[in-house]
Amino acid sequence: MRIFSGIQPTGRKHLGNYVGAIEQWVAGQDRGEGIYCLVDLHAITVAYEPAALREAVYDTGAMLLAAGLEPDRCIFFRQSDVQEHPELCWLLSSVTSFGELNRMTQFKDKAGSQRDLVSGGLFFYPVLQAADVLAYRANEVPVGEDQRQHVELMRDVAERFNARFGETLVVPELRLPEVGARIMDLQVPDKKMSTTGGSPQGTVLVLDEPDTILKKFRSAVTDSGTEVVRAPDKAGITNLIEILAAVRGTSPEQIEQTFEGSGYGAFKQAVGEAVVEYLAPVRGRYQELRADEPALERILGEGADKARAIAADTLLDVRQAMGVGPVRPRR
Ligand code: ATP
Ligand code: MG
Repeated sequence: MRIFSGIQPTGRKHLGNYVGAIEQWVAGQDRGEGIYCLVDLHAITVAYEPAALREAVYDTGAMLLAAGLEPDRCIFFRQSDVQEHPELCWLLSSVTSFGELNRMTQFKDKAGSQRDLVSGGLFFYPVLQAADVLAYRANEVPVGEDQRQHVELMRDVAERFNARFGETLVVPELRLPEVGARIMDLQVPDKKMSTTGGSPQGTVLVLDEPDTILKKFRSAVTDSGTEVVRAPDKAGITNLIEILAAVRGTSPEQIEQTFEGSGYGAFKQAVGEAVVEYLAPVRGRYQELRADEPALERILGEGADKARAIAADTLLDVRQAMGVGPVRPRR
């Protein structure tokens, strides 16, 4: 059982990333072979500063280690260190349909928020993401709900490749967390919490101070009602119920029962406190890991060596099947 997932080293990562992806990654180390990647080549598809990108690789890398990734129990690396990713991206582009790419909602959302340039890379993002996963012949992709469409696309790409060139690639399955697959912005609860797009007050950062977290939850947007129940016209409260269920490891129904009859104020306070407690261990371990950049480089370098060995083998098969490059001697 092979698991692959990536995270962008952009800005500071948030509670949505933690619940939607990171917690599943850590758990994946017990369920199979976890291969996890800091996708810096994806981060360059929107406006960014080169020096800040390099810092962000260390920030996000240290955060993931603080969260519980163990380099001897998984493969943890930086995408740009393994050149098989961009090469496979290009090869897969021949079996990716333009029409499908044109329907990707992430592209439409992000293109709309770019001030000057909408890069070709932003449009091609899902093909590189398909290459990331397919290079490892991964069985499972743990991500948040916002990535469902991209995982469906990579499944199509793998199936089309196999139909056109012969069985070569593994068609991966989407894996969403049971609760918290789509954590919403606390101030704009009809939009997902986001690293690059959200409101500052509505985005709970993994490394926020406890007081800041409590304040963000206290000022979370709700509705004019009083009942702690989920409903289509109660996006704010529904989101808070989901968040509390996710961090307590229980169900939204259970949270509704527990908070029956309590007002919004007490409920928001309880969610804030639970999130502070949930994130405290990561915050506690982060500083020391972040301070040692040579150690981070060493971990990522060793991870890249292991990743490359797997990806290079897939690339040989892909090139062979496609008639690209010389004939490969039989193994
Ligand atoms: P951006 O909004 O710039 O794309 P992001 O917050 O989505 O940034 P990514 O690095 O693209 O961060 O995503 C990393 C992982 O976090 C992905 O698996 C994604 O599905 C998941 N994720 C992102 N936002 C949320 C969210 N609000 N709720 C649950 N999971 C999320
Ligand atoms: Mg994203």
